[in-house]
Amino acid sequence: MLKSHSLPNSTAISDLLEHVVCDYCGHDDAVSLGHLPPKQNITVPMHRMGVAALDFDTQEISFVKCRQCGLIYMNPRMTDQAIQRFYDTVYAIPGASTQFESHQQERANYILDTTDAFLNVSKPMLLDIGCGGGQLLKIAQQRGWEVAGSELSSVAAESASQALGIPIFHGDFRDMTPAEYDVITMKSVVEHLCEPMNYLQAAVDLLKPGGVIFFNVPNYNSWERRFAQSTKQLWRGFIIEHLYYFTPSLIRQFANALEVDVVRMNSWVNNLTYPNPLAPLFTRSKTVNITASSDQNIQSHIQPEPVTLPQRMLRYSNQLILDTIATASNGRESDNKCNGNALFVWLQKPHQPL
Ligand SMILES: [Zn+2]
Repeated sequence: MLKSHSLPNSTAISDLLEHVVCDYCGHDDAVSLGHLPPKQNITVPMHRMGVAALDFDTQEISFVKCRQCGLIYMNPRMTDQAIQRFYDTVYAIPGASTQFESHQQERANYILDTTDAFLNVSKPMLLDIGCGGGQLLKIAQQRGWEVAGSELSSVAAESASQALGIPIFHGDFRDMTPAEYDVITMKSVVEHLCEPMNYLQAAVDLLKPGGVIFFNVPNYNSWERRFAQSTKQLWRGFIIEHLYYFTPSLIRQFANALEVDVVRMNSWVNNLTYPNPLAPLFTRSKTVNITASSDQNIQSHIQPEPVTLPQRMLRYSNQLILDTIATASNGRESDNKCNGNALFVWLQKPHQPL
C-alpha cells in the first residue's frame, strides 16, 4: 500500500511556498541538492514567464533528497495556489501547450505497442490520466481500444472530448465513477503531482488483474545528472514544473508496496540524434512567442540577463556536452537501460489477486 505524507504534513511559509515532508516515507530529513536559479536565469522561456507571475524569489525553492528513502523532491515548493497561477500564465502563452506535439504520435504508438505485448485482451479498456488534447487516446481508439480520459485543464478536456466523441472527465481521476481498466497511462503526469504516492495507489486500484499501468518520470540517476553534479552545475532536469524525481530502485520499491511487477523500465526516447555543433549558424532557435503576452508586468520580467560573447560561447559548449550526454544515455528502443533523463515504466498487476 502506497500512501502520501506530504500534503497532510505541509507547513505554509507564505501563500505561495510551503515546506513538505517526504511523500513516500513521511520523514523530514533531507539533504539539499541545489536551488532554482534567479527568475531571469531560468532557461525555459515559458517557465521564466510563469515564475514572473509569482511574487517570490525562485532561489528560495530547492531540490532535496530524502536521507531515509532516497526520494528526490522540491522543498520548499509552490503551494497549490502558486502552481495554479503558474499554469494559468504558462498556458495563456499562444503555442505553449502544443509545442511538444511533433513526437507525440511516435511516442504514443511505442507506449501502446509495448503495453499491448503484456496484455492478453482483444479490446483493452484504457484510461489515460492527464489526457491533454486526447492524442494518445485517439491512436488507441483507432486501434479499436475502449478509451476513457481525465484532464485537469477544462480547455484540454473539451478539445479531447470533441476529438474523440466521448465525454472526458474534467478533474481529478480519483473522483470519477469507479471502473476497472486493462490499461492506465499517466504520461508526464506523476512528477507534477503534490501527492504522487496516493495517485499511484489509486491508479493501481482501478486496474483489472493482469492489467498494466504505464508512466514516465524524470530519472535522477541519469548520466547527465551525474555529469552536472561532478561539474558543480544544477541538473537541467530540475525545473519548476517538476515536484518529484525518481530512480530505478525507488520505482522497484513502489512496485513492491503496490503489489505489482515491474515488467519493463527503460530510458528510450524517439530520436537518437546527436546535436550538430554548427546548427546555430544555420538555424534560428524555435522559441515560444513570449512577447504575445498581454501582461506588461510579466513581459518586463522575462528578458534574460545579457551575457558577453565569451560567456555565451562557454555556455554553448557546455550545452553541447550536456545534449550529447543526454542523447548517448537514452539507449535504443530494444534496450532496457535506465541512464537517460527519463524513466519509462510499465507495471503489471498479478493475474491472480494476491
Ligand atoms: Zn523519504
